[in-house]
Amino acid sequence: MKNIELLSKICSVAGAPGHEKKIRDFIIGEIKKEGLGYTLDNLGNLIVKIKGKKEKSIMVAAHMDEIGFIVKHIDEKGFVFFHPLGGFDPKTLTSQRVVIHGTHDVLGVMGSKPIHIMSAEDRKKTPKIEDYFIDTGLKKEELEKKISVGDPITRYSELIELGQNINGKSLDNRASVYVLLQLLKKIKQPPYDIYGVFTVQEEVGLRGASAASLLINPDFGFGLDTTIAFDTPGSAKKDQVSQLGNGPCIKIMDSQTICDYRMVNYMKEISKVKKIKTQLEILPAGATDTSPLQRMNSGGSIAGAISIPTRHIHQTIEMVNKSDLSNTILFLYECLMEIDTYDWSH
Ligand SMILES: [Zn+2]
Repeated sequence: MKNIELLSKICSVAGAPGHEKKIRDFIIGEIKKEGLGYTLDNLGNLIVKIKGKKEKSIMVAAHMDEIGFIVKHIDEKGFVFFHPLGGFDPKTLTSQRVVIHGTHDVLGVMGSKPIHIMSAEDRKKTPKIEDYFIDTGLKKEELEKKISVGDPITRYSELIELGQNINGKSLDNRASVYVLLQLLKKIKQPPYDIYGVFTVQEEVGLRGASAASLLINPDFGFGLDTTIAFDTPGSAKKDQVSQLGNGPCIKIMDSQTICDYRMVNYMKEISKVKKIKTQLEILPAGATDTSPLQRMNSGGSIAGAISIPTRHIHQTIEMVNKSDLSNTILFLYECLMEIDTYDWSH
């Protein structure tokens, strides 16, 4: 994988749901470098159109938001209470560092009750989001000069390389943001118009993709997101969903989408003909932008999704594999370039 530095930057820029300006501006910078045009819609989706040879449209969506929090209350001692933006597993918050994005960025740590003073009863319970608070080390008066209720909060962790894998926060879904950016740089004269959309507010209910899909009204849709790779100790093969390093996943279904059978067959065909190793994904819980891509437009679209296997998902230490990333770019490219050669009538 060539561009670890770019991916690292993409993961580091903040973008809690509804507060995507910083990451959007960063992506716009990358798009401008390539001389590509773009538009923004009212909700904040960033849309890059590549003109195709024929009159049909394909929407490819990668959400640019990341799970985060929002400041709810600052108490008299300066401790910060918060509300989650997206599906956090509370146990993963213990002793994590976070950044509160106010007029200044303020670093803080997630505090909770020390084990020494927990009752036997307490120790048996799984923690709840409400058990945590953020300690910034600052007094209320000092803190309120920098942050206030409603400011977004994101996780703090650097991207590192571990063997052939990459590890850090926000790989869900910045890994796909990276893939879509590389794709837009690479693709020239596709058969149909391509709308590459960096969507907002996916983590709180697929909200950005809904507005963008209504606007674009695509004939075909490709969701780009991460999926679970539970190929770790203690997992049964039937529950793994995907395995790290075994290639991009062709989504068959998730909790809100049954991918179009024609799209699934088409993707399998591309995988075979172009000799790109893929996996088949059935995700029992969790949804992606594929759902609004497929249904939130007049008459629907022929939609499917490519998912990137991800270990430790929705934690601060998400992990993807380098060859999975480069093969995802390649696979998506081939799926877009061959789309007019397939018989979609049955
Ligand atoms: Zn995601």
